[in-house]
Amino acid sequence: MYSVPKLKSFTAAALDKAVEKLLAAVKEEASAVKTEADWKTFRDRWMARKNGVLTEINDLWLKAAPKEAKREVGQRVNQLKASVEEAVAKAEHLQGQAASGPSAKVLSDTLDITLPGNRRPLGSEHPVIKTMHEIISVFRNLGYSVEEGPVIETDYYNFEALNFPPNHPARDTQDTLFIANQESKPQRDRLLLRTHTSPVQIRTMEKMKPPVRIVIPGKVHRNDPPDASHSPMFHQVEGLAVDTNITFCDLKGTLDHAMKALFGSSVKTSFRPSFFPFTEPSAEMMVSCFICGGSGKRGSEPCRPCKQTGWIEILGCGMVDPNVYGFVDYDPKKVSGFAFGMGADRIAILKYGVDDIQLFFNGDVRFLEQFG
Ligand SMILES: [Zn+2]
Repeated sequence: MYSVPKLKSFTAAALDKAVEKLLAAVKEEASAVKTEADWKTFRDRWMARKNGVLTEINDLWLKAAPKEAKREVGQRVNQLKASVEEAVAKAEHLQGQAASGPSAKVLSDTLDITLPGNRRPLGSEHPVIKTMHEIISVFRNLGYSVEEGPVIETDYYNFEALNFPPNHPARDTQDTLFIANQESKPQRDRLLLRTHTSPVQIRTMEKMKPPVRIVIPGKVHRNDPPDASHSPMFHQVEGLAVDTNITFCDLKGTLDHAMKALFGSSVKTSFRPSFFPFTEPSAEMMVSCFICGGSGKRGSEPCRPCKQTGWIEILGCGMVDPNVYGFVDYDPKKVSGFAFGMGADRIAILKYGVDDIQLFFNGDVRFLEQFG
C-alpha cells in the first residue's frame, strides 16, 4: 500500500517522479473499490483531514520544501488534490451504480410487472411453402382440389404405373434414392423416395372416377449433389385434369391463365416439344421473363435469370398418355386429360431473386425473416 515518502530533492524531475507514483497508487486503489464500505475506507485513507494522504503530502512535501521550491511544489500539490478528489468521486459513482440495483435475493423474490415480457416471434410462412400456396390458390380458383400422397413410394407408383417400364432408359433421367435391403421383394414393391409428385396422380385416379381436377403439392427427392441450383430434396406442384373431350387447347389455356395469375397479366407463354413417359404429346412451357420484360436485358446489363433469352422455362406438361389410363381402369377411348408439374423452389428463386437454393433449407433465421 502506498505511503507518502519524504522528498530528498525538490527538483522538477524528482517532483514529477513522486507525483507519478502517487497518481498510479490512487488509480490502483480506486479500481479495487467494490462496495460502499470499500469506498468509505478509500475516501478516508486519501482525504481524511487527520492522516489522510493529501494531509501528509501537505506536511511532508509542501511544508518541508525550501523557500525557493514552494511555489512549484504548491502547484503540484493542488493538482494532486484535484486528481484525488476526482478519483474518489468517480469510485463512489461506480460503486453506487453497482449498489443501486436490487440485490439478487430481492430480484428472485419479486415480480417486476414493468419489465417487457418474453418476446416469442410469431414466425411466418417459408418462402417455398408460400409459393406453393400461391400456385395452389390459382388452381383452386379454377375448381381444382388438393391431393397429397406418401413421400416413400413403391417402384410401381413412382415409375411403372406412370409408363416407365422396368429397365426403361427414361428412369435414368431421375436419379433415384432407393431404400436399402429390398432385393428379396419383387421390383414393383420396392420402396424409394418419390422422385416426383406424379404417383399421387395414379393414387387419385385409382380412387376417383372422372372428372378429375387436382393439384398435388409435395416434397420429392433425387440423388443430386447439392449446389446453388440443386438440392437432393425439393418441392413440386403437379396438376392433373381428366374429363371427356379435354384437348391440348385446354392445357394451353389453363396454364396461360395460371402463369398470368402468378407472374402478372403481361407475361406470355410459349410451348416447345419435350418428352415424358406419362404424357403424349409432351411439352415444356416457358414464360416471357417477368424480370426483364422479355428483353433479355436489365438496363445495360444482361438478364441472368433468363440467360438473356427473354424466356424462362417454368414447367413440363402434356396430354396424359393413354397407356397410363390402363393402369387405373379408365377407358382411353372415352376420357382424355392433361398433366403438368413445376418446381416450387425454382419458382420461389425466380420470384424472390434468391441466388442459391441451399438458402431455403439451411434454416438461417436472418435469411428467412426477410420473407415475413
Ligand atoms: Zn430476363
